[in-house]
Amino acid sequence: MPLYEEYCREIASIWDNHYLTNVGPKHQALQAQLKEFWKAEYVELFVNGHLSLEIAIKALELSGEVITTPYTFASSTHALVANGLTPVFCDIKASDFTIDEDKIEALITEKTSAILAVHVYGQPCNVKRLEEIAKKHHLKLIFDAAHAFGVEVDGRPVSDFGDVSMFSFHATKVFHTIEGGALVIRDEEVAKKVRALRNFGIEGPESVPMVGTNAKMNEFAAAMGICNLRHHEENMRKRSDAFAGYSEGLEGIPGIRKFEYVSTDFSRNYAYYPIIVDEKACGISRDTLQAELEKQNIYTRKYFYPLTSDFACYQGMGLTADVPVAHNTSDRVLCLPMYAELGRETVDEICGAIREIMRG
Ligand SMILES: *Cc1c(COP(=O)(O)O)cnc(C)c1O
Repeated sequence: MPLYEEYCREIASIWDNHYLTNVGPKHQALQAQLKEFWKAEYVELFVNGHLSLEIAIKALELSGEVITTPYTFASSTHALVANGLTPVFCDIKASDFTIDEDKIEALITEKTSAILAVHVYGQPCNVKRLEEIAKKHHLKLIFDAAHAFGVEVDGRPVSDFGDVSMFSFHATKVFHTIEGGALVIRDEEVAKKVRALRNFGIEGPESVPMVGTNAKMNEFAAAMGICNLRHHEENMRKRSDAFAGYSEGLEGIPGIRKFEYVSTDFSRNYAYYPIIVDEKACGISRDTLQAELEKQNIYTRKYFYPLTSDFACYQGMGLTADVPVAHNTSDRVLCLPMYAELGRETVDEICGAIREIMRG
């Protein structure tokens, strides 16, 4: 969080202009700053990331099947199904946890209308290959970039790829507006539609051509974003320190695969620190490690577990989900505490605790 005084200074003008929501001055200021940040023409802000994703999918007018990953948060799959689409689950790569681009084309049918891929833990998908596949088969390409704030691929913002990218500004993310989200959109018509859908489908004072919802970001959330954006660089430095601490502290622990960025072609945002626990190598399971850490007040998260394709709500629908790598990963992954104020000392304590537990 920003300093209390800084936030108070930021919201003071709201008491002068009484603009609480409906795309007021704070909303406009944050939107302008983010356009600059992403070097993007069409950036729209939302009350949260999930509704922005639902709206993006609706605005792209998709139909039939969408090829996607089950190794994600509930939001990505729900956004498809809520739009009446059928998710077709593609496996992921063990190396970077993103959708396996080599397995997508085998899943394309005449009903396929899009690919919805997720940049997992801030590691971008193979965006160039995905663009090629989408182009070749005339599919829309949507990125769930909830984890990828500030990530660049070959010096280009990650949102430069695909038709639409969704960013989440939830409190748990690298950059937040308490709750919030944004779409970076490549096409002007889609952007126009997205804006209307965000506000009940209202296009003009007396014109409501579509069934929209209400997903606007309010001024207090936008003000939080303006404050947090000021400290983004500083937060990245602190997170990078914590990341380095984990890399050193977890070195050589049997049964622990450290998190490593697979490539230097993209910038890092140190959003998460997932480890893979190999029970066969050490006799301690992921769940045991989590329970033991919790006894020491170290709270970790099985993220992503379960796979969205295993959710109760998606059983019995006959969905395609031949995803062994995703299963294997999901059964063994554990995300360690990661935030800007974590500090090297705490990281060292956590690593020490893990080393001790894994010793058995
Ligand atoms: C956080 C998250 C979302 C949802 O964003 P909200 O802002 O919480 O609605 C969607 N997808 C992924 C991968 C996320 O991590």
